[in-house]
Amino acid sequence: MAKRDYYEVLGVAKDASSQEIKRAYRKLSKTYHPDINKADDAAEKFKEISEAYEVLSDDQKRAAYDQYGHAATDPNFRGGGGFGGFEGFDGFNGGFGGGFEDIFSTFFGGGGGGSRRNPNAPTRGRDMQYVINLSFDEAIFGKKETIRYEREETCHTCHGSGAKPGTSPKTCHKCHGTGAVSVEQQTPFGRIATQRVCDVCHGTGQEIVDKCTTCHGSGHETKEHKVEVTIPAGVETGTQMRLSNQGEAGTNGGPYGDLYVVFKVADSDLFEREGSEILFTLPINFVQAALGDEVEVPTVHGKVKMKIPAGIQSGTKLRLKGKGAPRVNSSYVGDQHVTVKVMTPKHLNSEQKNALKAYGETMGNKVSEEEKNFFDKMRDAFRK
Ligand SMILES: [Zn+2]
Ligand SMILES: [Zn+2]
Repeated sequence: MAKRDYYEVLGVAKDASSQEIKRAYRKLSKTYHPDINKADDAAEKFKEISEAYEVLSDDQKRAAYDQYGHAATDPNFRGGGGFGGFEGFDGFNGGFGGGFEDIFSTFFGGGGGGSRRNPNAPTRGRDMQYVINLSFDEAIFGKKETIRYEREETCHTCHGSGAKPGTSPKTCHKCHGTGAVSVEQQTPFGRIATQRVCDVCHGTGQEIVDKCTTCHGSGHETKEHKVEVTIPAGVETGTQMRLSNQGEAGTNGGPYGDLYVVFKVADSDLFEREGSEILFTLPINFVQAALGDEVEVPTVHGKVKMKIPAGIQSGTKLRLKGKGAPRVNSSYVGDQHVTVKVMTPKHLNSEQKNALKAYGETMGNKVSEEEKNFFDKMRDAFRK
């Protein structure tokens, strides 16, 4: 027989006050009390009313009933729809006078649910990270580097079982192989039965009696491991490389984790780098700027001859094609961008001063046409 809704049993609304519930119960219990009512189903009805009242008169139980329905209070109830989360929840049949307490044990993180991961399943090992420091040039051209680090490896003595060679793990004496133990607690809501992971076998159900002397039962041992890393040309700070299976050992025969190599590239005194483009500032004097010149410019690929066109202005950018950094895993190589910076001399000897004065006289001590226009504009702007 399907269980009737408790509110329906008492004939009250879902939002009925505790006074209304009490009044309804008193009225119905008088009507159906077996001492008074001699009908066949009176005892059954009275039981139903008492049960409904017991739950709805208790704020805690009522709240749980509102949320979970009969599953909250009935140890034998197996919800149809809507209670999927509780399927297979062992605590329901706990022998503590009903499932109510057991519902709460899930709220207190008892961990008694059936959703716990199988501790005997093969688990992949932890991933690791290793930072490789590179010089500015090493990052551009790449290199091979052997790195060494400590990691957890599968124990070479027991091959990961944790048991002394020639012995094998036995069924755990504490949990008898279930991997879980029951713990009782006294709380404001009553006694609570909680399922905890067995502290002897850590949930595996297997106990290692004769432990491997190398790993003391863990199945892992810490070892120095070395890997040769081929660093591709063009890496930058933050570039990451994944090396499969170079992380830590898995458990229960699971695979090794991966190693993530991360690069940190040093700055250069000469160059700035933006991806595959390299930036360089070239100081020239104003004679070179005015007359033009051919100069040698440093690049990461060695010195390169570069023409400075006559009349160049400070801040002009020139490009040296293919003299930048390669793009990782690509045939593209960036450029070097040269920003010309015309330097004004600070210290002139008398010969230089005379030469400049003579130059000034040829200009009528006036600024050039272009500059004159500029000053005219400035003057106009201030007159406004
Ligand atoms: Zn071992
Ligand atoms: Zn155990």
